[in-house]
Amino acid sequence: MRKPLRLGLTGGIGSGKSTVAGFLAEAGATILDADAISRSVTQAGGRAIPALLAEFGEEMITPEGALNRDAMRSLVFSNPNSKRQLEGIIHPLVGQILQEQTQTAIEAGAGCLVFDIPLLVESIARWRPQLDRVCVVDCQPETQIQRVMDRSGISRQEVAQIMSQQATRAERLACADVVILNDGIDLAQLKQRVHEMWVSFGL
Ligand code: ATP
Repeated sequence: MRKPLRLGLTGGIGSGKSTVAGFLAEAGATILDADAISRSVTQAGGRAIPALLAEFGEEMITPEGALNRDAMRSLVFSNPNSKRQLEGIIHPLVGQILQEQTQTAIEAGAGCLVFDIPLLVESIARWRPQLDRVCVVDCQPETQIQRVMDRSGISRQEVAQIMSQQATRAERLACADVVILNDGIDLAQLKQRVHEMWVSFGL
């Protein structure tokens, strides 16, 4: 069985990584979405629920059986250790499900697996061994701020606050094998850049 190219895809908030993932999917890549998996394991009946119940008790679980996100956010805010405990449950499960999805995609003959991981750079040591290349979608911080304000209507301060909690632009670029510069171009030009990267991989 042919080994697919494993591409890590990341970028700061509003950089355009979801848009790039969409273009890669159109080109034929299989997208594995770490955020979607992490949400799914904490939904009612999700795989993380039994461990979350055992670790944090019933007050962190909704009557429907999902993670109570508001209660968890408050707990994490007041007790930093609980964030580590939460991640200690979620991260291994996300890794396990990604492996299962990878196996399924390989069996289906996928040529390229895209690991869409927003916080890839923040945990690069964990991810790097599982990836052949890392693609960073990059743009000026001001472009990120404008895009997120336009998209979600949140304030400049709120976007800046989220950005200050993410890796810096320099830290992201230091992890990149390929950079897609998504500044001063329209969506058609972005698609062209994604296509050029795809071709450069021999896909
Ligand atoms: P987040 O981290 O918040 O999920 P993201 O990095 O996935 O963001 P996208 O959702 O892909 O970013 O893009 C943010 C917004 O900017 C979207 O509305 C998208 O359509 C728009 N956008 C991205 N790139 C371009 C571009 N080159 N031209 C015009 N609009 C763009």
